Amino acid sequence: MNDSPQPTEATAAPEAALSDWGNVAAGEVMDRLVSLCKRRGYVFQSSEIYGGVGSTWDYGPLGVEMKRNVRDFWWDSMVRRRDDIEGLDAAILMHSKVWEASGHVSGFTDPLVDCRNCKHRFRADVLEAMDEPRCPRCGSRDLSEARQFNLMFKTHMGPVEEEAAAVYLRPETAQGIYVNFLNVLNASRRKIPFGIAQIGKAFRNEITPGNFIFRTREFEQMEMQFFVEPGTDTEWLERWRDERRAWYAELGIRDEKIRIEEHGPDELAHYAAAAYDLQYEFPFGWQELEGIHNRTDFDLSRHEEASGKKLSYYDEEAKERYVPYIVETSAGVDRTLLTCLVDGFREEGEGKGARTVLKLSPRIAPIKAAVFPLVKRDGMPEVAGQVHRGLRARWNVFYDDGGSIGRRYRRQDEAGTPFCITIDGESVEDRSVTVRDRDSMEQVRIGIDRLEEWLAERLEGSQTQL
Ligand code: ATP
Repeated sequence: MNDSPQPTEATAAPEAALSDWGNVAAGEVMDRLVSLCKRRGYVFQSSEIYGGVGSTWDYGPLGVEMKRNVRDFWWDSMVRRRDDIEGLDAAILMHSKVWEASGHVSGFTDPLVDCRNCKHRFRADVLEAMDEPRCPRCGSRDLSEARQFNLMFKTHMGPVEEEAAAVYLRPETAQGIYVNFLNVLNASRRKIPFGIAQIGKAFRNEITPGNFIFRTREFEQMEMQFFVEPGTDTEWLERWRDERRAWYAELGIRDEKIRIEEHGPDELAHYAAAAYDLQYEFPFGWQELEGIHNRTDFDLSRHEEASGKKLSYYDEEAKERYVPYIVETSAGVDRTLLTCLVDGFREEGEGKGARTVLKLSPRIAPIKAAVFPLVKRDGMPEVAGQVHRGLRARWNVFYDDGGSIGRRYRRQDEAGTPFCITIDGESVEDRSVTVRDRDSMEQVRIGIDRLEEWLAERLEGSQTQL
């Protein structure tokens, strides 16, 4: 057992770092991360003992904590800390007319091509990059015309499997907000502009899922629909674009890896007048993290028409009635979690000092601190137990008394734990502990009576390091 509270720590690799992820080349990052996620209990393949099921994933003990933290951070910034947004939790199953009115039954499709030789079915846009159309799997030129394939999962409500009983698993949470617009408006006595926010599962029968939890068939969205007066929509769209970018910075994601792309006229979804993609530079390229859309009065007007119910708003001051325009911010919980993992992943140092570390923001790290008695004797476990119990009342704090201190640090680095607290012989005498910072690996000595306040500043306040 190593009795020293100051173990040998990783040193910077003498040669220039290979990539933004330390010693790991970009092409290897996803494989390493997937394996770390399984090893440490972040994410497991769904139904793994049966060989897995296409692109669905289960969140393990650390993953589920982190996912809750991501949701809570979004909910706090979008709902609790604002006075112009209300929350909602609508059902996944909705009236099937919702999806006819929204345009999803007719328009939420991908064009697919069948290979008559090997029966492989693939997205038609795969052919765009080829000089001559061929099956990407077997190379055959015997291909069908492109046909539209609806991405919604369809099922039946009740015991009869007939068309009249057809329902869909929602492909976006937004429609639950639109059909509740008047309910929320009346119940909360809001005036426009105001927003409704919701977090929940969505399902899309994606043809090409992949890149781990980046694109899956079952996922969770964090959506906010902001109802505004027509004519003010462009200004609100830009405001929300900037606010959402700032949110990712607050989440600790490197800002140089975020960019905003405006959709060209031919890229806009059927409901949008203007849209921005907030993108992140993943090891597999720049990809959408969140969409910010000006959906105009498209959705409310369509639901008005299809349901026969008025969904307009009466502006008391201006004495006029209008159908509000909607500015939407639409992010994925799973994709945000993946972004935080990718952005924080590093392999650093060399030889005995090498370490794998997840530099997650303390706000979303699944374990906030770990408590270690240096050795299992001389009163140290008792003091460590007291410290652990005290902190656990407020945060998810881990206790570990197994192995050398260096090994215990490494385990927490890999789990993304921002602070490790070591109780040594001196702690028993003078009630002080050593706190070690995950990122800088610096250590400071702090009195136990000040520890909770000290951690709170770093876990919940603006100070995020030692
Ligand atoms: P993409 O072009 O990546 O398919 P999209 O433009 O269809 O996305 P939106 O409909 O704007 O996506 O969905 C908003 C957000 O929901 C996305 O930015 C993403 O974070 C999340 N999301 C959408 N589809 C998936 C999916 N299949 N798996 C995981 N997250 C998803």
